[in-house]
Amino acid sequence: MFEWIPLAALAALVMVVGVQMVSFAHIRNVHKHREFPVYAATVAGVVAFGALAGVALGVGVAVIVSLHRLGRTKITATEQDGRHVVTVHGQLTFLAVPRLTRTLGQLPPGVDATVELDGFFMDHAAYEAIQAWRGAQLAQGGRIDFTGRSGSRIAEPAAAAHSCCRPWTPWRNHHCHDRPTRPADNSGTTDSLPDSGSGSGTSPTAGAGRKGGAHRLLSGLSSFQRNTAPLVRDELARLASEGQCPSQLFITCADSRLVTSMITSSGPGDLFTVRNVGNLVPPPGTAPAGSGDDSVAAAIEYAVEVLRVESITVCGHSGCGAMQALLKGEPDSGPEKPRTPLWRWLRHGLPSLERMASRRHSWARISGRLPTDEVEQLCLTNVVQQLEHLRAHESVARRLAEGTLQLHGMYFHVGEAQAYLLTEGSSSGTEPDEVFDRVGTGELERTGV
Ligand SMILES: [Zn+2]
Ligand SMILES: [Zn+2]
Repeated sequence: MFEWIPLAALAALVMVVGVQMVSFAHIRNVHKHREFPVYAATVAGVVAFGALAGVALGVGVAVIVSLHRLGRTKITATEQDGRHVVTVHGQLTFLAVPRLTRTLGQLPPGVDATVELDGFFMDHAAYEAIQAWRGAQLAQGGRIDFTGRSGSRIAEPAAAAHSCCRPWTPWRNHHCHDRPTRPADNSGTTDSLPDSGSGSGTSPTAGAGRKGGAHRLLSGLSSFQRNTAPLVRDELARLASEGQCPSQLFITCADSRLVTSMITSSGPGDLFTVRNVGNLVPPPGTAPAGSGDDSVAAAIEYAVEVLRVESITVCGHSGCGAMQALLKGEPDSGPEKPRTPLWRWLRHGLPSLERMASRRHSWARISGRLPTDEVEQLCLTNVVQQLEHLRAHESVARRLAEGTLQLHGMYFHVGEAQAYLLTEGSSSGTEPDEVFDRVGTGELERTGV
């Protein structure tokens, strides 16, 4: 029946369909990617010589354009207030390597430079040339940044000004910068507990800083599900079926800057952890029924009796808010103003305060230097004191007598990212010296306390 359709009508139909296939958005897109010559040549070829020849012409033009571009990489070196900027426009292939090495070679050794890579392609020869140059520059104390077209950094420089969360990749993208600056009275390197004496509450700015918390939790969780969960699922499944068998009980402060698994290089199943304000261990028998202080004792009993851990560590840290509060002293309380839970808890730190004031004990100290201030002195003393409380627990005492349990005192200096371990070294008097030794990078075996 097709022979009944007039040829002119059929031709018109084909033309309408053909014209509709021309999309201006597509042309704009092609133009943006600088592929318009290819497009134009193909259209002209199809119109002049027919579809097949037109497409062949287009392919030919595309090859010529690509070759031209590969050969036309522009490499420039400029200097902006003491910093050298090497800009590479176009693709980096072996064709551009001679010019690249010549330009890079003109920079002085040990230079502070940014390399802007504008293209989307770099072949192996170019990559090796850049890496070799970077290695030589770094060896001579240089600092090389690589940036993409937008100016965003695409590789970590040797030393970045911003380094608060660099070493652990999953944490690296957290938005520590979107947090508004803390109120002035709360800034600085040390934290402090809110003053429980004043009922004024937190300032509005401090409140605004916490508003993103829910979002941060969710984005952190989904990042874990996406990136980390697939890697740890097998190991966690094993732990789930076999049950936990940790070899250490780790007692430390609730402070957010103390990341126990990071500083001990441990993972799932390694540390049975107790965290509380001030890493306090209430001595046994200080919890009258109903006072709610049994939590730490319960954890100790479970870890020592049931899990049969081989060591217990009490870990204090620099700038501890609980120690600062203890030093400041309790705000007045009376019948009309009863003790807050915080201060009821902090009373377990009072023996540490007394120990520091007492002349019977030599001061706990860090080997090689004096404690920076009262707070650090109390942080160290508190570790020693809480270890003493720990020894008084029945289960601990029994395992210590058996010789199957070790106790460790530890201090983590947040600002230095440095761990210190308590050793009872040479006695200077009747009491042993309590010295915290810096843990080096090659340490393997430590003795118990
Ligand atoms: Zn950061
Ligand atoms: Zn603390």
